[in-house]
Amino acid sequence: MALTKDEQRVLDAVPKQLLIGGTWTDGSADQMSVEDPATGETLCQIANATPEDAMKALDAAAAAQHSWKTVAPRERSDILRRAYQLMKDRADDLALLMTMEMGKSLAESKAEITYASEFLRWFSEEAVRINGRWSNEPSGAGRLLTMKQPVGPCLLITPWNFPAAMGTRKIGPAIAAGCTMIVKPASATPLTMLALGEILLEAGLPEGVLSIITSSSTGKVMQPLVQDQRLRKLSFTGSTEVGRLLMEQASQTLLKLSMELGGNAPFIVFEDADLDKAIEQAVVAKMRNMGESCVAANRFYVHSSIAEEFTSRLSDKLGALTVGRGTEDGVDVGPLIDADQQGKVAELVDDAVEKGATVRTGGSKGDGAGYFFKPTVLGDVPANARLLSEEIFGPVAPVASFDTEQEVLDAANGSEFGLVAYVFTSDFSRAIRVLEELEVGMAGLNKGLVSNPAAPFGGVKQSGFGREGGFEGIEEYLETKYIGIDL
Ligand code: NAP
Repeated sequence: MALTKDEQRVLDAVPKQLLIGGTWTDGSADQMSVEDPATGETLCQIANATPEDAMKALDAAAAAQHSWKTVAPRERSDILRRAYQLMKDRADDLALLMTMEMGKSLAESKAEITYASEFLRWFSEEAVRINGRWSNEPSGAGRLLTMKQPVGPCLLITPWNFPAAMGTRKIGPAIAAGCTMIVKPASATPLTMLALGEILLEAGLPEGVLSIITSSSTGKVMQPLVQDQRLRKLSFTGSTEVGRLLMEQASQTLLKLSMELGGNAPFIVFEDADLDKAIEQAVVAKMRNMGESCVAANRFYVHSSIAEEFTSRLSDKLGALTVGRGTEDGVDVGPLIDADQQGKVAELVDDAVEKGATVRTGGSKGDGAGYFFKPTVLGDVPANARLLSEEIFGPVAPVASFDTEQEVLDAANGSEFGLVAYVFTSDFSRAIRVLEELEVGMAGLNKGLVSNPAAPFGGVKQSGFGREGGFEGIEEYLETKYIGIDL
């Protein structure tokens, strides 16, 4: 399928090399290709790093660390603020690029660019508010001083589902704190990050502070970095499986870690909920990013007295969405990222149907060459269906019913994941009771979207640890040094 003039222009403008220590350079290996998931066709070729290329990036990060940490906080703040403005100015082009490589609709890509840029603005404000503490020893004899200092060179590994925001919520605090960094975007969606790299250089980021490595042999290229003593921090967003592997590798050097891993969000609707609102928010919580989001509602638990009405109205809403290439007008739902993801979603739906679930809308792959899956609602989903315990990462809403508060709490907490939950009720006491009992890092009360740069994003249990955004986000990139003072 031929690209439009605009698509070609945006694609031509992206750097296709590695960014090593402030300079765009060719990779030493053969190039790797980037695909359009709506057509399965190749968009372009980009540099493909070897372990040696990646080591050069770490050399640059280690060499630049000392001078970068002495740059005035206001200056670091101004760089972030300029980058925020450049992202806003170029939002349309960045969104088009993201849609081409990732698949989501243009409206969703624009929303992500806004969300992503807000992390740069938030952390430009945090850069000048890094404080220590001065206190008296309890005995009164001496004084206690604590200071916050940058951790040091960081490796930031991001997934393909939010190619910009998962990057800026790591890059923003790393710059604000005074850390140098190597960014490794997902192989499926490297272009948005390469475009962001250019923006950050244009905003005045000094040489060596940021490197960007793209590679098709990710494990081989990353492991030597993770195990190099000069690296001081790894922030990873991705699957729990790869997170576990990286923790094992990082144990060699006791690397400081942040892990933003998988989710399996319950969406709980009590009988006293505002049903119109619950259905409207269910669409948001399920369909944002075609369901390819760690915070996507994965399991809908609806009180048995309203389960049929909820399922029927949600089916009408999802059945009415338009599926297609994200760049086209009027498209709500783009393709999934690749054939594997499409196959996994189909497998989970088939498993639920075999075990007794009913297909209320959708239920199968889309037509045509791309990796489409029809928005799907499944009713009467039995407790042993795999999609109630495995992350779906697709546009499928399984609905199960419950009768008591304790029953739904047990079901919601019966997961190895603990990222986010959504609760719909008009009873304030019940809301507090349930929110206190849920084993999650985040929850939405009568809302289906909690992501916000000013809030601490992160999970518990096997959804990982560490927080991104909010006041907490910058702490992940700072160490506390304590000094005891004898008067
Ligand atoms: P993934 O396969 O774990 O990949 C994530 C990143 O890790 C990619 O950049 C990938 O590179 C890299 N990677 C893969 N193997 C590696 C290795 N051996 N060593 C070092 N890096 C390695 O996850 P994904 O499929 O891209 O993303 C989906 C997952 O991310 C879901 O489970 C989702 O819930 C989770 N997620 C979590 C959050 C959160 O904040 N909690 C946010 C978004 C997504 P390649 O692409 O080159 O393989």
